Amino acid sequence: MTAEGGPALRTADFDYPLPEDLVASHPADRRDESRLLVLERRSGSLTDRRFPDLLEYLDHIFIVQAVVGIATPSFNLSKDSRISRWLGMSPEELKTMSPYENIDQLSAPLYLIHGTHSALLIDTGCGLFPLKPIIQELVPNKKLIIVNTHSHFDHIGGNSEFEIVYIHKDELNEITNPTDISFLKDSPKEITKRFEGINYTYQPCKNIQPLKSDDTIDLGEITVKIIHTPGHSSGSISLLTNKDDLFTGDTAHYGTMYVSKEEIPIHLSSVSKLLEICQLSETIELYPSHETYGISKKLLTDLYESMQKIDKLWETKKWDEFLEGWIIYDINFAYVVF
Ligand SMILES: [Zn+2]
Repeated sequence: MTAEGGPALRTADFDYPLPEDLVASHPADRRDESRLLVLERRSGSLTDRRFPDLLEYLDHIFIVQAVVGIATPSFNLSKDSRISRWLGMSPEELKTMSPYENIDQLSAPLYLIHGTHSALLIDTGCGLFPLKPIIQELVPNKKLIIVNTHSHFDHIGGNSEFEIVYIHKDELNEITNPTDISFLKDSPKEITKRFEGINYTYQPCKNIQPLKSDDTIDLGEITVKIIHTPGHSSGSISLLTNKDDLFTGDTAHYGTMYVSKEEIPIHLSSVSKLLEICQLSETIELYPSHETYGISKKLLTDLYESMQKIDKLWETKKWDEFLEGWIIYDINFAYVVF
């Protein structure tokens, strides 16, 4: 292979003799005992550190890709994004997951933003495996604040593990009682059988607190502002940090969007509200709750234009038996319309 404009590279240049006994073939029993070798790119120096020191080298956001509140191999971060990739996984949990299982349909990434004294977890995943230990391991000694972008099942599964969960006031009542997810019994996806273990029910968090537009959460050096963006659901929120990160929840993402036909005008005005925010800064980067993360505001212009075409495309709709909604395909999006 040839690096652009550079000298030819041969894969053989990267062959090294590795003594068998120095190769780690099993993970350490305790993850935080794992060793970490840090290469300082500029100076080329190598430092021997331990796993928990990783925090010092990462940016202020982690993604915990989660079907379940645990890591999965499916991961779709835009290659230009400025944030750190993070896969939270523990050996016991990984043993129960096949790396080849198609779980995309159920996955919603969790974002963890960490300031100097507090950390904010956006959404709690699908609740099949304990999430709290993973988050505590990532941000030990920091106050943990949990926010749900909205009340849909793939965003609230781990709520009961935490003492307080915040959600927009318009959806507060949606998560105060156990959530019945027995509709997943009919899902063609094999992974949904795992919900038998929790009886197809999510337990709620005992203390649920309301959020409203313009509320600001201080994490220490990082502040996070709540923006009410209804449409996908009545209490959907987006979150904007003072570091120009915009978390759009299910209000805006590529791929399959779930919309209610009556709410399309409201959804469109939420997208245009986010577009206005993006006019204020050139460097805003978007972190939706599905599909590709770490992307530009082009998502919002693409979505705005595409959603306006739903009426025109209405004749192409197909009924989906499991989702009980009409499916309409556009270039970058598919809509499930209820
Ligand atoms: Zn949703």
